[in-house]
Amino acid sequence: MYETVYDTIIIGGGPAGLTAALYCSRAGLRTMLFEGEGYGGQIAASPRVENYPGYKVISGNDLISHLYDQAMEFGTETEYAQVEAIRKEDALFVVTADGTEYVAKTVILATGVKNRRLGLANEEDLLGCGISYCATCDGAFFKDLDVAVAGGGSTALTDAIFLAKYCRKVYLIHRRSEFRGEIRLVKILSELPNVEFVLDSTVEELVGDTSLKAVVVKNKNDGQLTRIDVSGLFVAIGQIANNEKFKDLIALDESGYIIAGEDCRTSVSGIFAAGDCRQKSIRQLTTATSDGTIAAVNACEFIGSSI
Ligand code: NAP
Repeated sequence: MYETVYDTIIIGGGPAGLTAALYCSRAGLRTMLFEGEGYGGQIAASPRVENYPGYKVISGNDLISHLYDQAMEFGTETEYAQVEAIRKEDALFVVTADGTEYVAKTVILATGVKNRRLGLANEEDLLGCGISYCATCDGAFFKDLDVAVAGGGSTALTDAIFLAKYCRKVYLIHRRSEFRGEIRLVKILSELPNVEFVLDSTVEELVGDTSLKAVVVKNKNDGQLTRIDVSGLFVAIGQIANNEKFKDLIALDESGYIIAGEDCRTSVSGIFAAGDCRQKSIRQLTTATSDGTIAAVNACEFIGSSI
C-alpha cells in the first residue's frame, strides 16, 4: 500500500496544467503538479498578450503568475521535477519524477510543446552564444546589434517587433513569400524602418565558432546564397510535441501529439491530456485553459467527485 495517493497528478505547469490544478484543488482533490523547467510554458516568454479574455493587455509572465497564485491558494502541491515515466498499477498510476515515485488515481498530461530546431550542424553549440529560442529572454543581450529572426508564424512576427525596439537591424527570414502569422503583425513590421524581410529563404549555415557571426541564407527561387552578418539568430519556427516518454502507455499520433478529443480523454482511462500536447487544430492560450478545465472536470468525475 502507498502512504500517499493523490487524487490527481498534473504534469506540466503551463496555462493548461495550472488551470487543471486550480479546478482540481478548488474541488477538494489532493492535487500534485510537476513542472521541470519553468512555470508558464511558451506563454511565459510572451511580453504582450492581447487576446486573453478579461485583460486588455498583460504579459505572459504576469498572467501565469496570477494563475499560479490562484491554484496555490486552493492547496495545489508542486514539485519542481522532471517526470520520467508513468506506469499503471491496478487502478492507480505511478509517476516517476527525478527518481522518486508518486501515486495518483488520475493523471493530467499538460506537457505542452518544445521549440523546433533548425537542424543545423552547430545550432546546439551556439545556443546562448548567438542562437536563442526566446526573444524576450535574450533580446536585451543584443541591444544596438544586428539580429535575425527565422520563422513566419506569430511568434516570429512578435519576436521581430520586440527586437526592433532594441536592435539596430532585424532581418526576418522566412521560407515562403507569405507569413503564416497574423496580418496585423505583418503590417506593424512592414512599417518599422529597421526591419527587413528576407523571404523565400532558408537559413543554411550558422557562421561562427564560439559565437554567431553571420547566417548564410539560400533563396529558394534562384538558389543564391547570401551571407548576412548578425550577432544573434532567434529561431521561431514552431513547436514539437514532447510526449516520447509516454508512448508505451498512451496513444500518440504520427507527430507525437497525444490522441485525445475535446473531452481530453486519452487512450488510457484515468489519464487526460490538456493543452498543446494533445492532437488539436487550434493551439491558443484560451484553448489550453479550456482544456485544463475539461480535463479537471473529467478527472473529478472519474474518481467519483464533482467540481
Ligand atoms: P507556427 O504558427 O507553427 O509557425 C511556425 C513557422 O515556422 C511557420 O511560418 C513555418 O513555415 C516555419 N517553419 C516551420 N518549420 C520550419 C523549418 N524547418 N525551417 C524554416 N521555417 C520553418 O508557430 P508559432 O509562430 O510559434 O505559433 C504557434 C501558435 O501560437 C500559433 O497558433 C500562433 O497563432 C500562436 N501565437 C499567438 C501569439 C499572439 O500574440 N496571440 C503570439 C505567438 C504565437 P510555414 O509557414 O512555411 O509552414
